[in-house]
Amino acid sequence: MTVVNETHSPASAKGRVEPTTSAGEASTLPELDEAVTGCRACPRLVSWRERVAEEKRAAFRDQEYWGRPVPGFGPSDASLALVGLAPAAHGANRTGRMFTGDRSGEVLYRALFDVGLASAPHSESAGDGLRLYGTRITAPVRCAPPANKPTPAERDTCSPWLAREFELLRPTLRVVVVLGGYGWQALLAVLAAGGWEVPRPKPRFGHGARATLRDPAGAELVLLGCYHVSQQNTFTGRLTPEMLRAVLGRAKEAAGVG
Ligand code: SF4
Repeated sequence: MTVVNETHSPASAKGRVEPTTSAGEASTLPELDEAVTGCRACPRLVSWRERVAEEKRAAFRDQEYWGRPVPGFGPSDASLALVGLAPAAHGANRTGRMFTGDRSGEVLYRALFDVGLASAPHSESAGDGLRLYGTRITAPVRCAPPANKPTPAERDTCSPWLAREFELLRPTLRVVVVLGGYGWQALLAVLAAGGWEVPRPKPRFGHGARATLRDPAGAELVLLGCYHVSQQNTFTGRLTPEMLRAVLGRAKEAAGVG
């Protein structure tokens, strides 16, 4: 199992990055990760992510915000993936790494560490040395959206990045934990378009939901639903650390990590 601590230098967008073309041209995950950071395909999200990065939150005013699309994080041969929604304005849009630097990430990385999927219980910056074991974290929308709400058009515009990421992970990927109903719907659409056979009726999202997709060659991909690690869910106890650890533990076992 390859263990990778993937950090990313700011991209120099060489020419125009167009999601479908640029994602399709990436032949490795590091290439894809580099390419996505130069994307400016959604005017509203580009404007928002850069405005937030310029204005900053008072607590982070001395820091340089990433202010770009956030690539997936984790090794290229992951057998387990986590899919969220989109970067947080002062979290991943600040640090440049998925779920890093905010309260949601604190909860998630603590649980990943507890079940043996991460090398450390805290995730503060892209340079903190944290590693994921057999696990990759990604999202269907790569730029921080206002109010955490991308439009359907923005989700669709961004989908080639996720589609290509899953294509490149396909040889090793066995299980996906989907954090929240938004990611569940978005991922099912991407996987169906990518040739995976989605059961009918379409599997519904729920905490503890499980769905098995098959490809024409008979390979299986298991999706597990988990409430999103948003503050709204964790502060209210809708999602407890025990619930999160239970889902991640099941996923780890099913994916054969460790
Ligand atoms: S949301 Fe996706 S498609 Fe839109 S600008 Fe960001 S990376 Fe590009």
